[in-house]
Amino acid sequence: MPDTTYLDWPFFDDSHRQLASALREWAKSEIRSGAESDDVDEECRSLVRRLGAGGWLRQVVPAQNGGSRPQLDVRSLCIAREILAYESALADFAFAMQGLGTGAISIFGTDEQRERYLPRVAMGETIAAFALSESEAGSDVTAMSCSAKRRNSGYVIDGEKTWISNAGIADHYVVFCRMPEEGDRRFGAFIVDADNPGLSVSDRIDVIAPHPLGTVSFENCVVPAEALIGKAGKGLSVALGTLDLFRPTVGAAALGFARRALEEALGWVTQRRAFGQPLAQFQLTQAKLADMAVAIDASALLVYRAAWTRDTGATRITREAAMAKLFATESAQQVIDDALQLLGGRGLVSGAPVERLYRDIRALRIYEGTSEIQKLVIAGRVLSEMTVGVDGSIAHGVAGAPPQ
Ligand SMILES: Cc1cc2nc3c(=O)[nH]c(=O)nc-3n(C[C@H](O)[C@H](O)[C@H](O)COP(=O)(O)OP(=O)(O)OC[C@H]3O[C@@H](n4cnc5c(N)ncnc54)[C@H](O)[C@@H]3O)c2cc1C
Repeated sequence: MPDTTYLDWPFFDDSHRQLASALREWAKSEIRSGAESDDVDEECRSLVRRLGAGGWLRQVVPAQNGGSRPQLDVRSLCIAREILAYESALADFAFAMQGLGTGAISIFGTDEQRERYLPRVAMGETIAAFALSESEAGSDVTAMSCSAKRRNSGYVIDGEKTWISNAGIADHYVVFCRMPEEGDRRFGAFIVDADNPGLSVSDRIDVIAPHPLGTVSFENCVVPAEALIGKAGKGLSVALGTLDLFRPTVGAAALGFARRALEEALGWVTQRRAFGQPLAQFQLTQAKLADMAVAIDASALLVYRAAWTRDTGATRITREAAMAKLFATESAQQVIDDALQLLGGRGLVSGAPVERLYRDIRALRIYEGTSEIQKLVIAGRVLSEMTVGVDGSIAHGVAGAPPQ
C-alpha cells in the first residue's frame, strides 16, 4: 500500500479523498496489476469499457455532459491517473486519452459538440484521440503542414498526423490543422469521426511500452463547419489550453509509477539478505530510499500545486504545469532506476513490475512536450515575469502577469 498521507495536504477536500479511496479499491480488484494482453488494442478497448462501467470516466467530462463535477477538476484527474498508473500503465493510458482526446471539446466546444461527443466517452462507449504531432512538427507544432481549407459550407482536410495515441481504435479524433485562408501561422481544431471518408490509419508504431499508436492520414477529408472547435485561426490556443490542463496529469501518472517502484523496492530490501543482514540495514540502501521518498513528495507537491492552482480559478497554469510535468517525470525515471538497482538482477527480468515501470516511464518525458520544451516554457515565464530596474535591481511579478 503506497503512502496516502499526501491526501491530507491542504490541496484536497473530502471529495478528493473519497475518490482516491474508492478508485484505489476498484483498481486493486479490477485492474490486473501487470496485465499485458498480446492484443493491445483489445486490452485498451476493454479497459475503456471497464473504466466507463465503473463510473471513473465521469471525471474526464463536465457534469452537464455526464460528468461528475461542473467543470474538469484537475486534482481529480491527477488522483485518478496516479492511482491507475500505480496498478497498470495501460489503465492509466486508457483513462488519460479519454480526457486528452476530449479536453478541447470540454473546454472550447459548443453545447452541441459537447452533447454529441462527451456523454458516450464518459460511459466508455466511444474512444477519443488527440492529433497534433506530425513527422516534421513535433516540438515545433507550428511547423505542421496538415491543412484545412474552406469548401462549400465546411472544410476539407489534407495531410498526415503521426505518433497518435489510440490511432486505429479511436471513434473520433481532435485534429489540429493549418488554416492558410485565415493567414500565416493560423490554425484550427476539428473533430473528425473515425469513419469520416478521407480519414485512414496508414501506419501503426510499436514502442518500448506497447499501446495503440500510429499515423492517421487525411485525403480530401470533408468535414462540416460544425466540426470546428472554437474560432477559425485560433486552433493553437485550443491545443495549448488543452495541454496546459493535462500536463500536470502526466506528472501524476509518473508519480504513480514512482510510488509503485518505491513499494517494490521496499518489499525487496527488507527481505533480501546479503553479508548477514537485510539490504535495508545498509546505509547506502537507506540513502537511496531517502532520495526516492524525497523525489516522490517533491513531485506530488508540484503536481498538486499545479492542479489546485487551476481548480481554484487560474485560467492558465503554464509555468506550474510545465514544472510539474518536468520534475515528476524526470524524477520518476530516477526513482525507478534506483528501485531496479536495489532489486539487482531480478529487476531486469522481463515482465517483472520494476522492469515494466522502467519501460513505461520513458515516453512520459517525451509526449505532451519533451523535458527540454518544458524547460524552455519555464524559463520563458520566469524571464517574462521579471522586471529589471534602472539600478539593475530585479523584481518578480505575479505568475502570468505581463512585465511591468
Ligand atoms: C508514446 C507516445 C505517444 C504520443 N501520443 C501523441 C498523441 O496522442 N498525439 C499527438 O499529437 N502526439 C503524440 N505524441 C508525439 C509527442 O508529443 C512528440 O513525440 C513530442 O512532442 C516530441 O516531438 P518529436 O518526437 O518530433 O521530437 P523533436 O521535436 O524532433 O525533438 C527531438 C529532440 O530535440 C529536442 N528539442 C526540440 N526542440 C528543441 C529546442 N528548441 N531546444 C532544445 N531541444 C529541443 C527535444 O526535446 C527532443 O529531445 C506521442 C509520442 C509518444 C512517444
